[in-house]
Amino acid sequence: MLERDRDRYSRQIRFSAIGEAGQQRIIDARIALVGCGALGSFQAAALARAGAGLLRIIDRDYVEASNLQRQWLFEESDAAAALPKAIAARARLARINSGVRVEAEVADLTAANAGELLSGVDLILDGTDNFETRYLINDYSARENVPWIYGAAVGSYGLAMAVIPGRTACLACVYPDPPSGAQPTCETAGVLGPATSLVASLQVAAALKLIVTGDAPRLLTTVDVWSGELRQISNPARDPKCRACARHEFTYLNNSRRTPVSMCGRDAVQIHEHARPVDLSELAERLARIGPVRENGFALRFETPPWVLTVFPDGRVIVKGTTDPGVARSVYARYIGG
Ligand SMILES: [Zn+2]
Repeated sequence: MLERDRDRYSRQIRFSAIGEAGQQRIIDARIALVGCGALGSFQAAALARAGAGLLRIIDRDYVEASNLQRQWLFEESDAAAALPKAIAARARLARINSGVRVEAEVADLTAANAGELLSGVDLILDGTDNFETRYLINDYSARENVPWIYGAAVGSYGLAMAVIPGRTACLACVYPDPPSGAQPTCETAGVLGPATSLVASLQVAAALKLIVTGDAPRLLTTVDVWSGELRQISNPARDPKCRACARHEFTYLNNSRRTPVSMCGRDAVQIHEHARPVDLSELAERLARIGPVRENGFALRFETPPWVLTVFPDGRVIVKGTTDPGVARSVYARYIGG
């Protein structure tokens, strides 16, 4: 280990369960963070400070003013420039720890690209806001034998659990199906920064332990930062008939269907069924005749009240101002075409 690393990480190295050998494992670790919102931006900052060798940040979204209350990596200037979160995160992380390699992937994790975006990592951290993506990560984890750490938060409440393939229950063992009916979201129930950072902190601690020892706490932890209650139960037992980790039916990974997804945390719908490359500067020229357009090479933002469209080069569009996929599709068709 380099002398400067020995000094920089000295407080972690002096923690006897890590030591110099453990720190070297952290420096060698390759970690994917799926989602760089409240959970992901805390995870990224904490893992960069801990010295993780490679962080691959996968996020489809851009920074908004309403993110700044809880998304630790981002600043007002990122929101003003509407930078993609992965790009803004990479810039900030380089200032926190220039020794960490950060790969910014401005993309939505889907069945079609999961194999590529998650390849070559030792560990996956969940910073997503929806069950569809979590089941996709869970399928990948079971198929490729890569551990992942589930985490979720809404309101003042959150939970975290490590999934180690073949050794602990997977997400599908615990919840065979996604929750049905309306669920509280960050949009409807709000979300507190302390809840997301506590969940992310539990995930990062489990990540460090996994990297250093190959094991993680075998606990499902739930926490409510408002009531102050913290509950832990032993990891549920593995389901011997589990679709994912026992029968190896990777329904989510094998599903190439791409549907519009309502976003968590604001009044918006993402359209990705039309995925096809878009020439942003050409589109900017076209839309500038109708309303205000801003384009920065990573994304294009077009305002047409009551909607705001954000267009990405891969053809994805986020339509803000509705939660109705039908309305979003029609707005898409009206301004982007197809
Ligand atoms: Zn399972």
